[in-house]
Amino acid sequence: MARLSDPITILKGVGPARAKQFANLNIFTLRDLICHFPRGYEDRTHLVPIEKLEVDVPACFKAMVMNTPRTSHVRKGLDITKVQVADHSARLTLTFFNNRYVTEQLQYGQEYIFYGAVSGDFIGYNMTNPVFETPQSQPVLTRRVLPIYPLTAGLSNAAVLKAVRQALAICDPPAEILPPEVRQKYGILPAEQAYSAIHEPRSMAEAEQAKKRLVFEEFFVFSAGLSLMRASRAEKKTAPYADLDLSSFYACLPFTLTSAQQGAVEDILRDFRKGAPMNRLIQGDVGSGKTMVAAAAMYCAAKNGKQSALMAPTEILAEQHYASLQKLFEPLGIHVVLLTGSLTAKDKRTVRDSLALGQAQVAVGTHALLTDATQFQDLGLVIADEQHRFGVGQRSRLSAKGEDPHLLVMSATPIPRTLALLMYGDLEVSILDELPPGREAVDTFLVGESYRPRINAFIRKQVAQGHQCFVVCPAVEENQELGVKAASAWAETLRSTVFPDLRVALLHGQMKGAEKEAAMASFARGEADVMVATTVIEVGVDVPNATLMVIEDADRFGLSQLHQLRGRVGRGRAKSYCILTTHNRNPETLQRLKALCKTNDGFKIAEEDLKLRGPGDFFGSRQSGLPTFRVADLSYDLETLKDAQAASAAWIDTNGTSDAPEAVALRERIAELFERAEGTMN
Ligand code: ADP
Ligand code: MG
Repeated sequence: MARLSDPITILKGVGPARAKQFANLNIFTLRDLICHFPRGYEDRTHLVPIEKLEVDVPACFKAMVMNTPRTSHVRKGLDITKVQVADHSARLTLTFFNNRYVTEQLQYGQEYIFYGAVSGDFIGYNMTNPVFETPQSQPVLTRRVLPIYPLTAGLSNAAVLKAVRQALAICDPPAEILPPEVRQKYGILPAEQAYSAIHEPRSMAEAEQAKKRLVFEEFFVFSAGLSLMRASRAEKKTAPYADLDLSSFYACLPFTLTSAQQGAVEDILRDFRKGAPMNRLIQGDVGSGKTMVAAAAMYCAAKNGKQSALMAPTEILAEQHYASLQKLFEPLGIHVVLLTGSLTAKDKRTVRDSLALGQAQVAVGTHALLTDATQFQDLGLVIADEQHRFGVGQRSRLSAKGEDPHLLVMSATPIPRTLALLMYGDLEVSILDELPPGREAVDTFLVGESYRPRINAFIRKQVAQGHQCFVVCPAVEENQELGVKAASAWAETLRSTVFPDLRVALLHGQMKGAEKEAAMASFARGEADVMVATTVIEVGVDVPNATLMVIEDADRFGLSQLHQLRGRVGRGRAKSYCILTTHNRNPETLQRLKALCKTNDGFKIAEEDLKLRGPGDFFGSRQSGLPTFRVADLSYDLETLKDAQAASAAWIDTNGTSDAPEAVALRERIAELFERAEGTMN
């Protein structure tokens, strides 16, 4: 018996050249090969009478050869062989190109099983290059469900199938990791059966079942991994914070917290009291005031002699957090520093020194904060803002840093519960479902190009009232995508022809960090009237004086992303508006966009978005933070995901540390998954 870890070169017919081809598919071991699953199947099980063959639908049929195949040499490089076949229902002409062997293989008067698709023309039906075998032969090409594998140059489907079949014959498939009670409850095939059926199903139904099992397994492992991660963190010890009195912090706030904010702060204080590291997600719509909740946590850490690090996804946002936290904290005697990539080496050193020596209590920055170069005297709390770019891998790395700091992540993307579990299953959740008082909904309109003069007039009107406007474009440069408004060109047009008298600024992701920063800061200071931007402004930046956002070619964005963008306005006292423009006339697209005009509730929009576009597209084109799966497809397998999540949660609760063989195998698989995930799940 071979082992799963053996190289594929132990297989017959797999020499160095073959192995190289397999390597292109990341297949090195028997395990890799057995886990190289078909991307689909061709159902060749049923034999149909010739008369029932449908044009362009490949099918199997049994027929007798009615004449001796005849090959004609048409020109150099083109030989055509024709042969007549028939069954009791009809006759059919088969045509083979450049296949001289047919003349030897197809014997006059004999029956064969063929598989191919007919094409129809005026003269009659015809079939080109069908595959065939004798009824006595072992079914290889016909009378079976044929798996179709992802391939690479030089490697045929038949070659992959042959190798897989051999591998399955000489070694056991991966160990069973699903407990019998779970398999029974959800009607799941045992591992052994599933691995052979996924490659060589006897029917399409069996292939389906095998697939379902493997999808379930994949979700189960992932969810169980998150649960275990959560459980193992809960076992870690930290000294509980002694001083949880926030009254002087509250006294410095220019407002009182909403009751949702208060609730979240209480959750955090409870975590601080527990003596185990906090792992909490704060989920709240744009503008729900997550920063203040984070500030309360940082204040509390500082009072207990601990340092905090607040990580933002962009420098602009880090800068803005830095400014507002500094204003808030310095009067309270808490020293705040900013650490971003664009600081000079000297400034970085100064900042790092102050953190290492414990002179600064709060560090604000980008991911650079967590590199080895940054040492803290006593890091007690890590906060990640806009968290879906801060994935499971990074979270596990963080707790592996050894200090076991409290972890608070903040997400402004309302995520439907199922997906949230997938991304944050290792975290406890507090939800901010309330906006600070006096916030009015942003009125949103969907318009076509004919409204352009009115849009321009509206921009003028807002500016005349002393307000500012955002204009968001889907691309940076022209030609990047045909027919899509590009920020730089559009800014130029607005500047030169539409609003020559207004101050038009530009912001996009291809600008240097410092340039972006300068542009955004200047806009926030009111030094421009109109800011033309790409989605870089989507994340967090606060300009309360901005009251209008025009989103060009809005159909290019996901609903949730549009909602995020829209959250950049409506942050001040004045009534705010969002105008979505589109050239698109597709009724479904328009309906999707109209959903945004109807509600300002991020969770509702998220659910709608998920329903309409599926999870793959849920976050638009940017990095999603969703894990990548091998078999499972989040667009189709949501129901299975729900089952697997429920099953794994229930099972881990009671068997997390069991030493039953499945439990041991499961933990091994989880360890593997998270190792692989380090690179990909962020
Ligand atoms: P987000 O949840 O999108 O990060 P922020 O924390 O940036 O929201 O808060 C949005 C704005 O609301 C900020 O200007 C902040 O000062 C203000 N804010 C936060 N909490 C309150 C509150 N309880 N009452 C009034 N304004 C608040
Ligand atoms: Mg924020």
